[in-house]
Amino acid sequence: MNAQVMQSRTAPETTASAAFGSVLASTMAVANYRDGKWSAHELRKAGPIEISPAAHVLHYASTCFEGFKAYRWADRSINIFRMDRHIVRMRQSAKALTMPEPDADQLAAMITAVVDRVRDEVPESPGALYLRPILFGTMPNIGAAATPPSEAMLLVLASPVWDYFSSGLKPLRIYVEEQATRCASHLGVAKTGGNYAAAMGPTLAARQKYQADQVLFCPGGEVQETGAANFLLIREGKILTRSLDTTFLHGVTRESLLTIAPDLGLKIEERVFTVEEMFDWIKDGEAALSGTAAVLAGVGTLVRNWGSEFKVGSGEVGPHTRRLRAALVAMQQGEVQTPAGWTTRV
Ligand SMILES: *Cc1c(COP(=O)(O)O)cnc(C)c1O
Repeated sequence: MNAQVMQSRTAPETTASAAFGSVLASTMAVANYRDGKWSAHELRKAGPIEISPAAHVLHYASTCFEGFKAYRWADRSINIFRMDRHIVRMRQSAKALTMPEPDADQLAAMITAVVDRVRDEVPESPGALYLRPILFGTMPNIGAAATPPSEAMLLVLASPVWDYFSSGLKPLRIYVEEQATRCASHLGVAKTGGNYAAAMGPTLAARQKYQADQVLFCPGGEVQETGAANFLLIREGKILTRSLDTTFLHGVTRESLLTIAPDLGLKIEERVFTVEEMFDWIKDGEAALSGTAAVLAGVGTLVRNWGSEFKVGSGEVGPHTRRLRAALVAMQQGEVQTPAGWTTRV
């Protein structure tokens, strides 16, 4: 990323139009793993770090991350949404990659310390402070192709974000990929950079060939997820989404939506389903992508094989998608009470 863009800036008026993730808040937290343990963490000005050119991550992609948000509520307090759940997932990703697992309490302390330090930089709603813990292998040894890193760095970055509603309300155009996989099937549950690298080629190709916003990966004809979001089919009284397995990322947004959906009169069906079933569903049903960035984004069009196009319902974001999204956003914004433990006030 461009160093100019990544310089921390605090004046909201200069950054209000900045693209998602292109601005860093002024402070980051840092901890290092060495000799079998984590160092005490410290807060630093967000900026360049120094690692060896032989660092494990640069050669063997030992890295994982998290993404979630802190919101400024109407009472001015800053509240992190589902922090504990994201910390659990970060540790699972580290474990799947045989990397040193962050200590849950220390990571929580790092996150809340950063949020506290940059609280003046948290945009007004519907903006938020996007939080990005990242773990990577720093062990300097280019011969360690088959050895996990014994040294690692853990950073907690924060990024003020504004473009929140725009991304959720425009119906998406999705290419249905029926052969290629998004990533290695045992690593779908890890939030790791390599999986994004693996999805990049197919995603760019679909963008160029079919003007698709995203690719829905359906290897073997089974619907999985897109490059960075889970996939839900929605209709009157019902949600259908793939049951959890190792092939895809277990989204916290997905989990949150499935938790609140019954209160909105939507029954949950979690199971494997096929591309054919999906095309049948969208004749008069809805489809949506869930993830921290856009919460729940409606799908308007599916593009198949050689470019044949299928409208999802009316082609607009459907009423059930909007209602479900609004219900979760109201919780994130502190307008409606959440289940216990979902918010951490800083
Ligand atoms: C981060 C991510 C998601 C969404 O997860 P949330 O916890 O809902 O933000 C879905 N799929 C992939 C591949 C992801 O990396």
